[in-house]
Amino acid sequence: MATWRLRRAGAALAASSTLAAVLAASSASATDPSAAALEAARQRVARSGATPPLRDAQRAALAGSTPAEPLDVLVVGGGATGCGVALDAATRGLRVGLVEREDFSSGTSSRSTKLIHGGVRYLEKAVFNLDYGQLKLVFHALKERKQVIENAPHLCHALPCMTPCFNWFEVVYYWFGLKLYDLVAGRRLLHLSRYYSVDESVELFPTLAKNGHNCSLKGTVVYYDGQMNDSRLNVGLACTAAVVGAAVLNYAEVVSLIKDESGERIIGARVRDTLSGKEFETFAKVVVNAAGPFCDSVRKMADSTVAPMICPSSGVHIVLPDYYSPEGMGLIVPKTKDGRVVFMLPWLGRTVAGTTDSNTAITMLPEPHEDEIQFILDAISDYLNVQESCISLY
Ligand SMILES: Cc1cc2nc3c(=O)[nH]c(=O)nc-3n(C[C@H](O)[C@H](O)[C@H](O)COP(=O)(O)OP(=O)(O)OC[C@H]3O[C@@H](n4cnc5c(N)ncnc54)[C@H](O)[C@@H]3O)c2cc1C
Repeated sequence: MATWRLRRAGAALAASSTLAAVLAASSASATDPSAAALEAARQRVARSGATPPLRDAQRAALAGSTPAEPLDVLVVGGGATGCGVALDAATRGLRVGLVEREDFSSGTSSRSTKLIHGGVRYLEKAVFNLDYGQLKLVFHALKERKQVIENAPHLCHALPCMTPCFNWFEVVYYWFGLKLYDLVAGRRLLHLSRYYSVDESVELFPTLAKNGHNCSLKGTVVYYDGQMNDSRLNVGLACTAAVVGAAVLNYAEVVSLIKDESGERIIGARVRDTLSGKEFETFAKVVVNAAGPFCDSVRKMADSTVAPMICPSSGVHIVLPDYYSPEGMGLIVPKTKDGRVVFMLPWLGRTVAGTTDSNTAITMLPEPHEDEIQFILDAISDYLNVQESCISLY
Protein backbone atom coordinates (compact mmCIF):
# COMPACT_ATOMS: atom_id res chain seq x y z
CA MET A 1 0.00 0.00 0.00
CA ALA A 2 1.21 3.48 -0.86
CA THR A 3 1.11 4.75 2.71
CA TRP A 4 3.44 1.95 3.75
CA ARG A 5 5.81 2.74 0.87
CA LEU A 6 6.03 6.33 2.06
CA ARG A 7 6.74 5.09 5.56
CA ARG A 8 9.47 2.71 4.40
CA ALA A 9 11.38 5.61 2.92
CA GLY A 10 11.38 7.26 6.31
CA ALA A 11 8.62 9.70 5.46
CA ALA A 12 6.00 10.60 8.01
CA LEU A 13 2.61 11.48 6.65
CA ALA A 14 0.66 14.02 8.59
CA ALA A 15 -1.92 16.49 7.46
CA SER A 16 -3.04 20.01 7.93
CA SER A 17 -6.32 19.57 6.05
CA THR A 18 -7.65 16.82 3.86
CA LEU A 19 -4.46 16.80 1.87
CA ALA A 20 -1.78 14.66 3.43
CA ALA A 21 1.60 16.32 3.73
CA VAL A 22 4.87 14.47 3.95
CA LEU A 23 6.99 16.14 6.58
CA ALA A 24 10.06 14.18 7.51
CA ALA A 25 13.13 13.87 5.36
CA SER A 26 14.11 10.60 3.74
CA SER A 27 17.00 9.37 1.71
CA ALA A 28 16.53 7.73 -1.68
CA SER A 29 18.99 5.56 -3.44
CA ALA A 30 20.11 7.08 -6.73
CA THR A 31 20.20 3.63 -8.31
CA ASP A 32 16.69 2.56 -7.27
CA PRO A 33 14.14 4.21 -9.62
CA SER A 34 11.26 3.30 -7.32
CA ALA A 35 12.92 4.96 -4.31
CA ALA A 36 13.81 8.00 -6.43
CA ALA A 37 10.18 8.30 -7.57
CA LEU A 38 9.07 8.02 -3.98
CA GLU A 39 11.48 10.76 -2.94
CA ALA A 40 10.18 13.00 -5.75
CA ALA A 41 6.60 12.30 -4.63
CA ARG A 42 7.52 13.16 -1.06
CA GLN A 43 9.01 16.46 -2.13
CA ARG A 44 5.94 17.37 -4.19
CA VAL A 45 3.61 16.73 -1.27
CA ALA A 46 5.92 18.58 1.15
CA ARG A 47 6.00 21.73 -1.00
CA SER A 48 4.29 24.54 0.83
CA GLY A 49 0.85 25.26 -0.61
CA ALA A 50 0.78 21.96 -2.54
CA THR A 51 -2.73 21.57 -3.94
CA PRO A 52 -4.20 19.26 -6.59
CA PRO A 53 -4.39 20.79 -10.09
CA LEU A 54 -7.75 22.18 -11.22
CA ARG A 55 -10.32 19.80 -12.67
CA ASP A 56 -9.82 21.11 -16.24
CA ALA A 57 -6.11 20.34 -16.01
CA GLN A 58 -6.83 16.82 -14.76
CA ARG A 59 -9.29 16.26 -17.59
CA ALA A 60 -6.79 17.61 -20.15
CA ALA A 61 -4.09 15.26 -18.84
CA LEU A 62 -6.40 12.27 -19.30
CA ALA A 63 -7.66 13.37 -22.71
CA GLY A 64 -4.10 14.22 -23.80
CA SER A 65 -2.98 10.59 -23.71
CA THR A 66 -2.79 8.85 -27.09
CA PRO A 67 -2.32 5.25 -28.29
CA ALA A 68 1.30 6.19 -29.05
CA GLU A 69 1.80 7.93 -25.68
CA PRO A 70 -0.52 6.18 -23.27
CA LEU A 71 -0.68 6.53 -19.50
CA ASP A 72 0.93 3.67 -17.62
CA VAL A 73 -2.19 2.96 -15.56
CA LEU A 74 -5.84 4.00 -15.81
CA VAL A 75 -7.91 3.27 -12.70
CA VAL A 76 -11.70 2.95 -13.00
CA GLY A 77 -13.36 3.91 -9.69
CA GLY A 78 -12.47 6.52 -7.07
CA GLY A 79 -13.30 4.61 -3.89
CA ALA A 80 -10.70 3.55 -1.32
CA THR A 81 -9.35 0.82 -3.62
CA GLY A 82 -9.04 2.97 -6.74
CA CYS A 83 -7.51 5.97 -4.97
CA GLY A 84 -5.11 3.69 -3.07
CA VAL A 85 -4.01 2.06 -6.34
CA ALA A 86 -3.58 5.48 -8.00
CA LEU A 87 -1.46 6.84 -5.14
CA ASP A 88 0.66 3.71 -4.96
CA ALA A 89 1.28 3.70 -8.72
CA ALA A 90 2.02 7.45 -8.83
CA THR A 91 4.59 7.15 -6.02
CA ARG A 92 6.35 4.50 -8.13
CA GLY A 93 6.85 7.09 -10.84
CA LEU A 94 4.14 5.74 -13.15
CA ARG A 95 1.90 8.01 -15.26
CA VAL A 96 -1.50 7.46 -13.72
CA GLY A 97 -5.10 8.44 -14.49
CA LEU A 98 -8.20 7.77 -12.39
CA VAL A 99 -11.85 8.35 -13.25
CA GLU A 100 -14.77 8.22 -10.83
CA ARG A 101 -18.29 8.54 -12.18
CA GLU A 102 -19.69 10.29 -9.11
CA ASP A 103 -17.72 12.00 -6.34
CA PHE A 104 -14.72 10.35 -4.69
CA SER A 105 -15.86 7.95 -1.98
CA SER A 106 -19.50 8.20 -3.00
CA GLY A 107 -19.86 4.39 -3.01
CA THR A 108 -19.10 1.77 -0.36
CA SER A 109 -16.07 3.69 0.87
CA SER A 110 -18.14 6.37 2.62
CA ARG A 111 -20.57 3.89 4.18
CA SER A 112 -18.31 1.60 6.19
CA THR A 113 -18.50 1.03 9.94
CA LYS A 114 -15.46 3.39 10.10
CA LEU A 115 -13.33 0.87 11.98
CA ILE A 116 -9.68 0.16 11.31
CA HIS A 117 -9.74 -3.44 12.42
CA GLY A 118 -6.65 -5.05 13.83
CA GLY A 119 -8.33 -8.38 13.11
CA VAL A 120 -9.43 -9.59 16.55
CA ARG A 121 -11.91 -12.03 14.98
CA TYR A 122 -9.20 -13.57 12.79
CA LEU A 123 -7.23 -14.14 15.98
CA GLU A 124 -10.12 -16.12 17.47
CA LYS A 125 -10.19 -18.28 14.32
CA ALA A 126 -6.39 -18.63 14.31
CA VAL A 127 -6.46 -19.97 17.88
CA PHE A 128 -9.46 -22.28 17.60
CA ASN A 129 -8.62 -23.64 14.13
CA LEU A 130 -4.83 -23.57 14.67
CA ASP A 131 -4.72 -21.61 11.42
CA TYR A 132 -1.41 -19.84 10.72
CA GLY A 133 -2.95 -18.08 7.70
CA GLN A 134 -5.46 -16.32 9.96
CA LEU A 135 -2.65 -15.32 12.33
CA LYS A 136 -0.71 -13.79 9.43
CA LEU A 137 -3.85 -11.78 8.58
CA VAL A 138 -3.90 -10.43 12.15
CA PHE A 139 -0.24 -9.35 11.93
CA HIS A 140 -0.92 -7.65 8.61
CA ALA A 141 -4.08 -5.90 9.84
CA LEU A 142 -2.31 -4.69 13.00
CA LYS A 143 0.55 -3.28 10.93
CA GLU A 144 -1.87 -1.45 8.62
CA ARG A 145 -3.94 -0.19 11.57
CA LYS A 146 -0.91 1.46 13.15
CA GLN A 147 0.28 2.80 9.81
CA VAL A 148 -3.02 4.41 8.84
CA ILE A 149 -3.37 6.08 12.25
CA GLU A 150 0.20 7.43 12.00
CA ASN A 151 -0.26 8.58 8.41
CA ALA A 152 -3.50 10.48 8.97
CA PRO A 153 -3.85 11.34 12.67
CA HIS A 154 -6.37 14.09 11.79
CA LEU A 155 -8.76 11.45 10.40
CA CYS A 156 -7.97 8.32 12.41
CA HIS A 157 -7.58 7.55 16.10
CA ALA A 158 -7.61 4.73 18.62
CA LEU A 159 -11.11 3.96 19.89
CA PRO A 160 -11.85 1.98 23.06
CA CYS A 161 -14.54 -0.66 22.51
CA MET A 162 -16.43 -2.13 25.45
CA THR A 163 -17.38 -5.81 25.49
CA PRO A 164 -20.17 -6.45 28.03
CA CYS A 165 -19.99 -9.77 29.90
CA PHE A 166 -23.09 -11.30 31.48
CA ASN A 167 -21.41 -14.34 33.06
CA TRP A 168 -17.97 -15.04 34.52
CA PHE A 169 -17.04 -17.37 31.68
CA GLU A 170 -17.43 -14.42 29.27
CA VAL A 171 -15.27 -12.24 31.52
CA VAL A 172 -12.45 -14.81 31.49
CA TYR A 173 -12.89 -15.61 27.78
CA TYR A 174 -12.81 -12.01 26.56
CA TRP A 175 -10.13 -10.94 29.04
CA PHE A 176 -7.73 -13.69 27.90
CA GLY A 177 -8.66 -13.28 24.24
CA LEU A 178 -8.10 -9.53 24.27
CA LYS A 179 -4.87 -9.84 26.27
CA LEU A 180 -3.67 -12.21 23.55
CA TYR A 181 -4.66 -9.55 20.99
CA ASP A 182 -2.52 -7.02 22.93
CA LEU A 183 0.37 -9.48 22.99
CA VAL A 184 0.19 -10.20 19.26
CA ALA A 185 0.05 -6.44 18.56
CA GLY A 186 3.40 -6.03 20.34
CA ARG A 187 4.89 -2.63 19.51
CA ARG A 188 1.85 -1.89 17.34
CA LEU A 189 -0.39 -1.91 20.40
CA LEU A 190 -2.65 1.16 20.67
CA HIS A 191 -3.49 0.77 24.40
CA LEU A 192 -3.71 -2.19 26.76
CA SER A 193 -7.10 -3.86 27.15
CA ARG A 194 -8.53 -4.15 30.66
CA TYR A 195 -11.44 -5.39 32.76
CA TYR A 196 -13.87 -2.89 34.34
CA SER A 197 -16.24 -3.70 37.18
CA VAL A 198 -19.99 -3.15 36.74
CA ASP A 199 -19.94 0.26 38.44
CA GLU A 200 -16.88 1.41 36.50
CA SER A 201 -18.45 0.19 33.25
CA VAL A 202 -21.72 2.02 33.82
CA GLU A 203 -19.82 5.16 34.73
CA LEU A 204 -17.93 4.89 31.43
CA PHE A 205 -20.99 3.89 29.39
CA PRO A 206 -24.10 5.27 31.13
CA THR A 207 -26.67 3.58 28.83
CA LEU A 208 -25.21 0.11 29.45
CA ALA A 209 -27.79 -2.26 31.01
CA LYS A 210 -26.90 -3.74 34.40
CA ASN A 211 -29.31 -6.59 33.67
CA GLY A 212 -29.81 -8.40 30.40
CA HIS A 213 -30.03 -11.92 28.97
CA ASN A 214 -31.85 -12.91 32.21
CA CYS A 215 -28.69 -12.31 34.23
CA SER A 216 -26.81 -9.41 35.71
CA LEU A 217 -23.80 -7.70 34.18
CA LYS A 218 -20.50 -9.03 35.57
CA GLY A 219 -18.35 -6.29 34.09
CA THR A 220 -16.83 -5.40 30.73
CA VAL A 221 -13.55 -5.86 28.92
CA VAL A 222 -12.42 -2.79 27.00
CA TYR A 223 -9.98 -3.15 24.10
CA TYR A 224 -8.77 -0.72 21.42
CA ASP A 225 -9.16 -0.65 17.66
CA GLY A 226 -8.92 2.24 15.21
CA GLN A 227 -11.68 4.55 13.97
CA MET A 228 -11.37 6.53 10.74
CA ASN A 229 -13.24 9.14 8.77
CA ASP A 230 -13.55 6.86 5.76
CA SER A 231 -14.75 9.38 3.17
CA ARG A 232 -12.25 12.09 4.10
CA LEU A 233 -9.44 9.54 4.14
CA ASN A 234 -10.52 8.48 0.64
CA VAL A 235 -10.57 12.10 -0.60
CA GLY A 236 -7.16 12.58 1.06
CA LEU A 237 -5.80 9.66 -0.98
CA ALA A 238 -7.27 11.14 -4.19
CA CYS A 239 -5.81 14.60 -3.47
CA THR A 240 -2.41 13.19 -2.52
CA ALA A 241 -2.34 11.09 -5.71
CA ALA A 242 -3.17 14.24 -7.71
CA VAL A 243 -0.42 16.27 -6.01
CA VAL A 244 2.05 13.47 -6.72
CA GLY A 245 1.13 13.68 -10.41
CA ALA A 246 -1.84 11.40 -11.11
CA ALA A 247 -4.67 12.82 -13.24
CA VAL A 248 -7.63 12.22 -10.96
CA LEU A 249 -11.10 13.13 -12.25
CA ASN A 250 -14.44 12.83 -10.49
CA TYR A 251 -17.83 12.94 -12.27
CA ALA A 252 -16.22 11.03 -15.14
CA GLU A 253 -17.73 7.69 -16.09
CA VAL A 254 -16.13 4.97 -18.18
CA VAL A 255 -18.81 4.17 -20.76
CA SER A 256 -16.80 1.71 -22.86
CA LEU A 257 -13.34 0.21 -23.12
CA ILE A 258 -11.14 0.67 -26.19
CA LYS A 259 -9.31 -2.36 -27.63
CA ASP A 260 -6.37 -2.62 -30.01
CA GLU A 261 -6.77 -3.68 -33.66
CA SER A 262 -6.61 -7.36 -32.76
CA GLY A 263 -9.55 -6.82 -30.41
CA GLU A 264 -7.64 -8.74 -27.73
CA ARG A 265 -5.97 -6.08 -25.63
CA ILE A 266 -7.61 -3.18 -23.78
CA ILE A 267 -5.72 0.02 -24.56
CA GLY A 268 -7.95 2.68 -23.04
CA ALA A 269 -11.45 3.84 -22.23
CA ARG A 270 -14.14 6.17 -23.47
CA VAL A 271 -15.10 8.51 -20.65
CA ARG A 272 -18.16 10.72 -20.21
CA ASP A 273 -17.69 13.90 -18.20
CA THR A 274 -21.03 13.78 -16.39
CA LEU A 275 -20.88 17.50 -15.54
CA SER A 276 -20.54 18.69 -19.15
CA GLY A 277 -21.99 15.60 -20.87
CA LYS A 278 -18.99 15.57 -23.23
CA GLU A 279 -17.08 12.37 -23.98
CA PHE A 280 -13.36 11.86 -24.54
CA GLU A 281 -10.93 8.99 -24.96
CA THR A 282 -8.01 8.17 -22.72
CA PHE A 283 -5.33 5.55 -23.36
CA ALA A 284 -3.31 3.44 -20.95
CA LYS A 285 -1.05 0.39 -20.95
CA VAL A 286 -3.01 -1.09 -18.06
CA VAL A 287 -6.63 -0.51 -16.98
CA VAL A 288 -7.40 -1.34 -13.35
CA ASN A 289 -11.01 -2.21 -12.55
CA ALA A 290 -11.64 -0.73 -9.09
CA ALA A 291 -15.38 -0.25 -9.55
CA GLY A 292 -16.25 -2.06 -6.29
CA PRO A 293 -19.69 -3.67 -6.47
CA PHE A 294 -19.98 -2.44 -10.08
CA CYS A 295 -16.87 -4.22 -11.29
CA ASP A 296 -18.89 -6.80 -13.27
CA SER A 297 -20.35 -4.00 -15.40
CA VAL A 298 -16.81 -2.86 -16.25
CA ARG A 299 -15.75 -6.47 -16.96
CA LYS A 300 -18.72 -6.78 -19.34
CA MET A 301 -17.44 -3.76 -21.28
CA ALA A 302 -14.38 -5.87 -22.07
CA ASP A 303 -16.27 -9.09 -22.76
CA SER A 304 -20.07 -9.13 -22.75
CA THR A 305 -20.09 -12.92 -22.27
CA VAL A 306 -18.21 -13.07 -18.95
CA ALA A 307 -20.06 -14.61 -16.02
CA PRO A 308 -20.64 -12.28 -13.04
CA MET A 309 -18.15 -12.73 -10.21
CA ILE A 310 -19.80 -10.45 -7.63
CA CYS A 311 -22.31 -11.76 -5.07
CA PRO A 312 -23.71 -8.45 -3.85
CA SER A 313 -24.67 -8.05 -0.21
CA SER A 314 -25.64 -4.95 1.72
CA GLY A 315 -24.86 -3.88 5.26
CA VAL A 316 -27.12 -1.43 7.07
CA HIS A 317 -26.11 1.05 9.77
CA ILE A 318 -28.60 3.07 11.80
CA VAL A 319 -27.86 6.50 13.27
CA LEU A 320 -29.02 7.10 16.83
CA PRO A 321 -28.86 10.21 19.04
CA ASP A 322 -25.54 10.96 20.73
CA TYR A 323 -26.59 9.90 24.24
CA TYR A 324 -26.58 6.21 23.26
CA SER A 325 -22.81 6.12 23.42
CA PRO A 326 -20.37 8.35 25.27
CA GLU A 327 -18.15 10.48 23.05
CA GLY A 328 -15.00 8.39 23.19
CA MET A 329 -16.23 4.82 23.66
CA GLY A 330 -17.79 2.17 21.44
CA LEU A 331 -19.73 -0.93 22.43
CA ILE A 332 -19.53 -4.31 20.78
CA VAL A 333 -22.30 -6.89 20.82
CA PRO A 334 -20.01 -9.90 20.41
CA LYS A 335 -22.68 -12.38 19.41
CA THR A 336 -26.13 -11.52 18.12
CA LYS A 337 -28.90 -14.14 18.06
CA ASP A 338 -27.62 -15.38 14.71
CA GLY A 339 -23.96 -15.27 15.73
CA ARG A 340 -22.93 -11.95 14.18
CA VAL A 341 -21.14 -8.94 15.67
CA VAL A 342 -22.86 -5.56 15.97
CA PHE A 343 -21.00 -2.36 16.85
CA MET A 344 -22.38 0.79 18.45
CA LEU A 345 -19.91 3.59 17.90
CA PRO A 346 -19.70 7.33 18.50
CA TRP A 347 -19.62 9.16 15.18
CA LEU A 348 -19.69 12.90 14.46
CA GLY A 349 -21.84 13.72 17.48
CA ARG A 350 -24.21 10.78 16.93
CA THR A 351 -24.13 7.02 17.49
CA VAL A 352 -23.82 4.63 14.56
CA ALA A 353 -24.95 1.03 15.05
CA GLY A 354 -24.59 -1.87 12.66
CA THR A 355 -24.20 -3.78 10.57
CA THR A 356 -26.28 -6.41 8.78
CA ASP A 357 -25.37 -8.67 5.88
CA SER A 358 -28.14 -9.43 3.36
CA ASN A 359 -28.36 -10.23 -0.31
CA THR A 360 -29.20 -7.23 -2.44
CA ALA A 361 -29.36 -5.93 -5.98
CA ILE A 362 -26.43 -3.74 -7.09
CA THR A 363 -27.49 -0.11 -6.79
CA MET A 364 -25.65 3.05 -5.76
CA LEU A 365 -28.08 3.67 -2.88
CA PRO A 366 -29.38 0.38 -1.46
CA GLU A 367 -32.42 0.99 0.77
CA PRO A 368 -32.46 -0.42 4.31
CA HIS A 369 -35.31 -2.86 4.98
CA GLU A 370 -37.50 -2.65 8.08
CA ASP A 371 -36.36 -6.12 9.27
CA GLU A 372 -32.69 -5.08 9.00
CA ILE A 373 -33.31 -1.98 11.12
CA GLN A 374 -35.21 -4.12 13.63
CA PHE A 375 -32.36 -6.66 13.72
CA ILE A 376 -29.90 -3.95 14.80
CA LEU A 377 -32.33 -2.47 17.33
CA ASP A 378 -32.94 -5.93 18.83
CA ALA A 379 -29.22 -6.65 19.02
CA ILE A 380 -28.33 -3.46 20.88
CA SER A 381 -31.44 -3.09 23.03
CA ASP A 382 -30.50 -6.22 25.02
CA TYR A 383 -27.40 -4.37 26.18
CA LEU A 384 -28.92 -0.96 26.88
CA ASN A 385 -31.05 0.49 29.63
CA VAL A 386 -33.00 2.45 27.00
CA GLN A 387 -36.37 0.93 26.11
CA GLU A 388 -36.58 -0.05 22.44
CA SER A 389 -39.85 1.81 21.97
CA CYS A 390 -38.02 4.97 23.05
CA ILE A 391 -35.15 4.48 20.62
CA SER A 392 -35.27 7.25 18.08
CA LEU A 393 -33.63 6.98 14.71
CA TYR A 394 -32.24 9.68 12.49
C1 LIG B 1 -21.52 -2.41 5.54
C2 LIG B 1 -20.03 -2.35 5.37
C3 LIG B 1 -19.23 -1.99 6.44
C4 LIG B 1 -17.84 -1.94 6.27
N1 LIG B 1 -17.06 -1.56 7.33
C5 LIG B 1 -15.73 -1.47 7.18
C6 LIG B 1 -14.93 -1.01 8.25
O1 LIG B 1 -15.41 -0.70 9.33
N2 LIG B 1 -13.60 -0.91 8.04
C7 LIG B 1 -13.03 -1.23 6.83
O2 LIG B 1 -11.81 -1.11 6.68
N3 LIG B 1 -13.77 -1.66 5.78
C8 LIG B 1 -15.11 -1.77 5.94
N4 LIG B 1 -15.87 -2.19 4.89
C9 LIG B 1 -15.22 -2.53 3.63
C10 LIG B 1 -14.88 -1.26 2.83
O3 LIG B 1 -15.88 -0.29 2.99
C11 LIG B 1 -14.74 -1.64 1.35
O4 LIG B 1 -13.80 -2.69 1.24
C12 LIG B 1 -14.24 -0.48 0.51
O5 LIG B 1 -14.99 0.69 0.73
C13 LIG B 1 -14.32 -0.87 -0.96
O6 LIG B 1 -13.86 0.21 -1.71
P1 LIG B 1 -13.87 0.16 -3.29
O7 LIG B 1 -13.08 1.32 -3.75
O8 LIG B 1 -13.43 -1.19 -3.74
O9 LIG B 1 -15.41 0.28 -3.71
P2 LIG B 1 -16.34 1.58 -3.75
O10 LIG B 1 -16.09 2.48 -2.61
O11 LIG B 1 -17.74 1.11 -3.94
O12 LIG B 1 -15.84 2.34 -5.04
C14 LIG B 1 -16.14 1.93 -6.35
C15 LIG B 1 -16.33 3.19 -7.16
O13 LIG B 1 -16.35 2.86 -8.54
C16 LIG B 1 -17.17 3.82 -9.18
N5 LIG B 1 -17.57 3.32 -10.49
C17 LIG B 1 -18.35 2.26 -10.78
N6 LIG B 1 -18.48 2.11 -12.11
C18 LIG B 1 -17.76 3.11 -12.69
C19 LIG B 1 -17.52 3.50 -14.04
N7 LIG B 1 -18.06 2.85 -15.07
N8 LIG B 1 -16.74 4.59 -14.27
C20 LIG B 1 -16.18 5.28 -13.23
N9 LIG B 1 -16.40 4.95 -11.94
C21 LIG B 1 -17.17 3.88 -11.67
C22 LIG B 1 -18.35 3.97 -8.21
O14 LIG B 1 -19.04 5.19 -8.41
C23 LIG B 1 -17.66 3.89 -6.86
O15 LIG B 1 -17.40 5.17 -6.30
C24 LIG B 1 -17.26 -2.26 5.02
C25 LIG B 1 -18.08 -2.61 3.94
C26 LIG B 1 -19.44 -2.65 4.11
C27 LIG B 1 -20.30 -3.01 2.93
